[in-house]
This record gives sequence, C-alpha cells and structure tokens, in this order.
Amino acid sequence: MIPPTHPRYRSLLEREKLVEGFERGLVVPQGLIAHGRGEAFDYLIGEETQDFAVRAIEAASAALLLAERPVVSVNGNVAALVPEHVVALSREIGAKLEVNLFYRSREREEAIAAALRAWGADEVLGVGEDASARIPELQSERRRVSPRGILLADVVFVPLEDGDRTEALRRMGKTVITVDLNPLSRTARTANITIIDNITRALPLLVDVVKRHKSLSRDSLRSILEGYSNERTIGEALDHICKRLRDIASSLRALNTCGG
Ligand code: ATP
Repeated sequence: MIPPTHPRYRSLLEREKLVEGFERGLVVPQGLIAHGRGEAFDYLIGEETQDFAVRAIEAASAALLLAERPVVSVNGNVAALVPEHVVALSREIGAKLEVNLFYRSREREEAIAAALRAWGADEVLGVGEDASARIPELQSERRRVSPRGILLADVVFVPLEDGDRTEALRRMGKTVITVDLNPLSRTARTANITIIDNITRALPLLVDVVKRHKSLSRDSLRSILEGYSNERTIGEALDHICKRLRDIASSLRALNTCGG
C-alpha cells in the first residue's frame, strides 16, 4: 500500500495500476517502458495539466461531438490506467470502443474487452475475427482494425498511439486525436489534435468538457475546432518546458549565490 501522503503518490499509484495490468494480461512489457518515457516528460511538464492541454481538450471535445462515426481506441496501458473514463467518453459522444493493439494476441484482446465491460461497456470492437480489416501500408498484426470501427471512422481518438499508425490513419483521411506526454514524438506531431498531458488527468477532464459542450450549437463547436492549431500547441508545450527548466536553474543559481 502506498501512503497517500507520499510526495509521489499519484505517480506510484499509476505504476501499481500498470503492474497490475501487466499481471492481468492487459499490458505488455513494452507498455511499461512507454509509460516510463511518458513519466519523464510529465516531470518536465510539471505533473499538472497546462493551458495548452486544456485548449487541445476543448478542440478534441468539439471534434468528437461533430464527428459522424467517432471511435475511441483502447490499448493495454489505456485499459489499465483509465478504463472507467474511456467507457464514459464513448458513452457521452456515442462512439464505438475498439481494442487497438501494437502487440496483438487473442488473450490480450479479450482481457482488455473484459476490463472495459467491467465498467459498463456494451460493445467492444477489434476482438478476434472482428479485427479483420487492414490499415494499408502497415505490416503484420499492427495493421488489424475492425471494419465496423476504425476502418469506417471519420474521427479516431487514439491515446498513447505509435507514430507509424498515426501517420497511416492520417493518410486514410481520418481526423486523429491523441494523448501523448512527449511533444516531440511522431504521434504528437502527426495527429490533428495532441493533448500533451498525462492520460490519467486528461481523460476525466475531456469527459467533463464533452458534457459541457453538448449544449453548444454545431456552429459554436466548429468555431472552437477552427481556432485550434496543433503546431501552436506543440510549440507552447516546448516553450513551457524550456521556461520551467530555466526558472528551476536560475532559482538553484540564486540559492548557490546566497549560500556563498
Ligand atoms: P512515436 O512512435 O510517436 O515517435 P514512441 O516511440 O515514444 O513515439 P510509443 O513507444 O508507442 O511511441 O509510446 C507511446 C507514447 O505514449 C510515448 O511518447 C509516451 O510519452 C506516451 N505516454 C506514455 N504514458 C503516458 C501517459 N500516462 N499519458 C500520456 N502519454 C503517455
């Protein structure tokens, strides 16, 4: 048991959830490594949702509510960290849920679908024979998607996705929304909307914003979306990290001067 008073309580709890997800067959070892990369960027960002992430969340909500065939894609880390929130998101926007894995196995697909059903999901696509369609230009198991889900979707929410598949989805003409703590990843730079934040903070916020946005007109949603620029978001995230590191460095230098 991690005491809630521990200064790194949230971060340690996330690790526990991933280890538990690994033991339940949801998460693969590579997923643990990917989480470590995310943690490093979270440290640099300051482990709080920043304004550039809030603006991306607003744009993501508008895009999802305007979509005709939205799909929420779920991989092992997402299922381990935020299963309740992806189910709530899909319900709020009327989106299909699809298991979408880089390292596919029938057992993993089933385990992830079961984790989502435990939170009330009715239908989960991308399991077994359902993942029978192919993303063009990708090799092997990584290209399998559901012909009723991602293949048909106009807007796909693919948090913690890899760069190759994000690029392939864009080439298929889809609007791609992702969550990625690394503003420099290919996924972050290729997606239409990148929420640069920890998925454990971003997802509950996205669900709240969607609930609030549901009362807006389609024109208002369109203007939120049109006012958004992903290049600007990534630039702001990098500026934020640089400024934060410079501020920390100067406060350390000031301390050093005072101490003689
Ligand atoms: P790319 O292929 O897009 O250049 P990558 O090789 O880092 O990037 P993956 O190994 O698939 O891609 O990693 C997925 C991404 O998810 C990483 O960039 C990591 O920063 C990010 N990530 C991991 N955990 C979290 C989390 N909890 N919240 C948000 N992002 C995360």
